[in-house]
Amino acid sequence: MSKYLMNTYARLPVAFTHGEGAWLWDTEGRKYLDAVSGLGVTSLGHSQPEVAAVIADQAATLLHTANLAGIPWQEKLAEKLCKHSRMDKAFIANTGAEAVECALKIARLCGHQRGFEKPLIAVTNGAFHGRTLATISATDNIKIQQGFEPMVAGYIHLPYADSDAFEKAIEENPELVAILLEPIQGETGVVVPPAGYFKNLRKLCDQHNILLICDEIQAGMNRTGKWFAHQHDDILPDIITVAKALANGIPIGACLARGEAATAFVPGNHGSTFGGNPLSCRTACTVIDIMERDNIGDNAADIGNWLQQGFKEKLATDPKVVDIRGRGLMLAIELDRSAIPVRDTALAEGVLINVTHEKIIRLLPPLILNRQEAEKLLETVSRLVSDLE
Ligand SMILES: *Cc1c(COP(=O)(O)O)cnc(C)c1O
Repeated sequence: MSKYLMNTYARLPVAFTHGEGAWLWDTEGRKYLDAVSGLGVTSLGHSQPEVAAVIADQAATLLHTANLAGIPWQEKLAEKLCKHSRMDKAFIANTGAEAVECALKIARLCGHQRGFEKPLIAVTNGAFHGRTLATISATDNIKIQQGFEPMVAGYIHLPYADSDAFEKAIEENPELVAILLEPIQGETGVVVPPAGYFKNLRKLCDQHNILLICDEIQAGMNRTGKWFAHQHDDILPDIITVAKALANGIPIGACLARGEAATAFVPGNHGSTFGGNPLSCRTACTVIDIMERDNIGDNAADIGNWLQQGFKEKLATDPKVVDIRGRGLMLAIELDRSAIPVRDTALAEGVLINVTHEKIIRLLPPLILNRQEAEKLLETVSRLVSDLE
């Protein structure tokens, strides 16, 4: 790897030059089935022709004006996002962490508007919300925080999927203004909360006037079979963050809000030079249009269920396998030992998978994955797990 790059990533010994659909090619011309999607980003697959055409056209039309003037594509995108999320308003940023920063600032602002001097935000253990100082402070992951102390203050750390702990925190902290959490914890290994948890959270938030912030950056945009993962629980958050798959690889993030949270900001409270530019917003509009037209969520649900069922049939009795879980095309196979050899052998065989926390195989294939591609993924991963010593 280049000596000119800072030492921030443990990279795989491969580099890709181009891709098409669910497939990637490396610098040696070898072909790979992509079950990572650049960490849940390229949901419509690589080189999607309509997305590519729109990017090229917009590059030759207008890339950037900053938010000094109106941006029609930003307005269009905000409307589309509000329609699918049932939110009132959107702020468009450039990354996931920025979308979360926006949500955190809105929550604090609402707290101050209620007269709280030090508004508190509840966050959950195992969470991942990004790599900025405020977002690394919103996790309990020591590895992510170490060396960067002091952390940003104002958080209460709670166990995930524990509404009793949340209720206790509400009683003990009168200045608690919001709870921020993922509908399914992604980075920590696809942790799906038990049915009823989000309904309980919503009830407690309503009773105590607390903002429910769902970080849908990984689970949103049809990854789990619905536009947003919290929709499986039939609840409505107050704030939603979106990013990753929103523009199929063009950097973008969005913070969506309703009610008090939607109208908290006034000019001067928040902003971004690049955020909401015509290129990323028009690309995201196209991605949403394609997802609507092609019922991408249905494919994610069908292929995802088929895959999860297949893994359960092939691996359920394997003593190395601790758990097989997920929703739609957000899947995990947790082992009792390192899964790194599975990842490395899969790579050598031309299948790209991700491992998180060393023992958890995480699959985030593109949502356009077809049955044949899913069969290849199922066959390769289950065989390599079975053969693992
Ligand atoms: C990836 C991720 C983020 C951070 O997004 P970036 O674009 O890397 O800043 C935040 N929250 C969740 C749930 C994520 O999966």
